[in-house]
Amino acid sequence: MRPVVNPMTTTELLPAEAETADARAEDKKASLEINKLSKRLHRQVGQAVTDFNMIEDGDKVMVCVSGGKDSYSLLDILINLKQRAPIRFDIVAVNLDQKQPGFPGDVLPNYLKSRGVDFHIEEQDTYSIVKRLIPEGKTTCSLCSRLRRGILYRVAEELGATKIALGHHRDDIVTTLFLNMFFGSRMKGMPPKLVSDDGRNVVIRPLAYVREPDLVRWAEHREFPIIPCNLCGSQENLQRVQVKAMLNDWDKRFPGRVENMFTAMSNIVPSHMMDRKLFPFETIKATGAPVEDGDIAFDEDEACHTPSSAPVIKLHRDET
Ligand code: SF4
Repeated sequence: MRPVVNPMTTTELLPAEAETADARAEDKKASLEINKLSKRLHRQVGQAVTDFNMIEDGDKVMVCVSGGKDSYSLLDILINLKQRAPIRFDIVAVNLDQKQPGFPGDVLPNYLKSRGVDFHIEEQDTYSIVKRLIPEGKTTCSLCSRLRRGILYRVAEELGATKIALGHHRDDIVTTLFLNMFFGSRMKGMPPKLVSDDGRNVVIRPLAYVREPDLVRWAEHREFPIIPCNLCGSQENLQRVQVKAMLNDWDKRFPGRVENMFTAMSNIVPSHMMDRKLFPFETIKATGAPVEDGDIAFDEDEACHTPSSAPVIKLHRDET
C-alpha cells in the first residue's frame, strides 16, 4: 500500500496514521459544530428571555419536564443561563407522572438529581381518567392536556413559582399558526409569554427562537435519557402531523421560507389586514400628510408582476 502524504507537512503518513489523522479532523469538526450549536442555543434563549422580559429578578421558574428532547433542552439551557445571568432566579423542575403504562418513573428523578436541580414529581393518574371518559378510538389528547394544564397550574401555586416555562420551540409556534388558520380561521400562534387561561400564572416559552432540528442535535449530544412520548397509545393529532410535514417540505424546497413566516409574526401591519378590532377602518380619513405604510394603490409585490426574464404568458390567441 502506498503511504499517504500529509499535505500540511509533505511528510508521508502510513495508512494507520492517515486514518487516525482523519478521525482527529472529524472529531475536531464535530466539536466545532457542537460549540457553535451550544452558542446559538444559549444566545437564542437569552435573546427571547430578554425580548419578552420572560424572567425577572427574584423569579421562581417552574420548568415543566416531560422527558422529551425539548423540555430536557429547555431545562439544560436555563440551568446554564442561570449561572451567568445578571439577575437572580430559581429553577424548579416539575414532571407530571400521568401513570401511563410503562412510564419509567425513576428516569427523571435520577437525571434531575444528577443535575443538582430542585424538582418535584407530581403523580396523578390522568391516564385512567382519560381512558374511562373517552370512547375507544377517539383522540384523547384534548382532555389529557386540559387535565395536565390544571394540575400544573395548581402545582405552580403550591411551589410558589412565579413563571411556568414550557418547551415549545419556533417550529411549534409556526405550526400552531397554520393549524389555527387552516382549521380555526384565526391568525393565532403560540405566545412567548402570556397569562394562563385561569389568570393565575404567567406562562413563558424561552425556546421560542429555537429551531427544532437544533434541539434534536442538542439532545443527542447531551445524551438526555429520553422517555418515549407514545406510552399512552394515542396517535399524534393528524392535522398537526400534516402541517408539520408541509412546513418540513417547504423548509427543504424553499430554504428561509419558514424563517420568514416566523419573523412575519413579529411584523404585523394591522392596517393591511382585515381585522376591524385591530384597525379603525370605519373612521379613517385622508389628512393630506404622507402616511408611512399608507396604501400604495398597486403594490408591486401583489400586482401581476412578471420578471423580465420570465416568459410572457399570452392571455388571448390573437395577442402578439
Ligand atoms: S399523546 Fe397521550 S399523553 Fe400526550 S396529550 Fe395525548 S393523550 Fe396525553
